Amino acid sequence: MTDETIRVWDYLTEYEQERDALMGAVDTVFRSGRLVFGDSMRAFEEEFAAYHDVPHCVSVDNGTNAVKLALQALGVKPGDEVITVSNTAAPTVVAIDAVGAVPVFVDIDPDTYLMDTAAVEAAITPRTTCLLPVHLYGQCVDLAPLEALADAHGLRLLEDCAQAHGARRHGRIAGSAGHAAAFSFYPTKVLGAYGDGGAVLTPDPEVAERLRRLRYYGMAERYYVVETPGHNSRLDEVQAEILRHKLRRLDDYIAARRAIAARYAEGLAGTGLTTPRLAPGNDHVYYLYVVRHPRRAEILGALATRGIELTVSYRWPVHTMSGFRHLGRKPGTLPVTEAMAEEIFSLPMYPSLPVAAQGRVITALRELLAG
Ligand SMILES: *Cc1c(COP(=O)(O)O)cnc(C)c1O
Repeated sequence: MTDETIRVWDYLTEYEQERDALMGAVDTVFRSGRLVFGDSMRAFEEEFAAYHDVPHCVSVDNGTNAVKLALQALGVKPGDEVITVSNTAAPTVVAIDAVGAVPVFVDIDPDTYLMDTAAVEAAITPRTTCLLPVHLYGQCVDLAPLEALADAHGLRLLEDCAQAHGARRHGRIAGSAGHAAAFSFYPTKVLGAYGDGGAVLTPDPEVAERLRRLRYYGMAERYYVVETPGHNSRLDEVQAEILRHKLRRLDDYIAARRAIAARYAEGLAGTGLTTPRLAPGNDHVYYLYVVRHPRRAEILGALATRGIELTVSYRWPVHTMSGFRHLGRKPGTLPVTEAMAEEIFSLPMYPSLPVAAQGRVITALRELLAG
């Protein structure tokens, strides 16, 4: 890659713009005398809960563990079935597997690539204990039918919000509807740390208390007695303080992403690329800008030669991965998921993407595809 390469995600421009605040955050922590479990973590948890208007936030060390610990705190046990999608980041499913539960996949909607909520009821069995929708690419799954099913069947509802910080559907913010919601602060995410991080939101004080123990070896803080063995899954103070700074800027980042999305939609009209479609009432945050075209391989190759990096999220549906073949979902059993996986790809998207760089991407695609 040359200096001129346009990457699908980059933080270096943002770092230059925000360097004083970021280095200030690091210095605040280093001078505080506490590097884990200190004031920055506690303040971030309060501020992140308040942003969502949800009573409790328990921070953890990454998004995978946020899903894993949330499942455990909600009482999901080995052998339980958890209904989710195969078109997601593998960690959603890895976390289900890690607690010994069985992932059960439903197909996706061909317009939004989100969980086909109409398919969920038929997937419920006596062993189902949890529904795990993923607000993929920055757009919210319609939770109303899932809440109704959860009520009717006594299931837990866990939202995977790793790609949807600040996204809303009919005004309701992602992470505020379920029994719990898991977030990742992996650097590329809409709210990203300068390293790893994660958090769980929950309205339930008992779930929050279980999460606090699970992330700290299974101990109640200050009592140092393990009742149920847990994990070590703490958010460190440096990342927490950086996340406090970035949370204050989150709405600006989202606005920048939306402006980029609007320029793509306008610039790519008439090229035959299918640009993102919004489900009714959705305020998309464009974690990824995912488009679709039958000639994907040719497009990726042609743009690479012009110094433009495109990626595929996700090229291999989770149920087709060798590590999940034991689940017995043969290729062909999730036809929409599998068909979309052949054609989708992601264009460069991050808040500080320069307008000129985006213009190069649009021009390259137009020259290749239009007319
Ligand atoms: C990123 C992501 C995760 C995992 O987060 P990490 O912080 O990388 O562990 C889980 N689910 C989804 C949908 C993600 O995009």
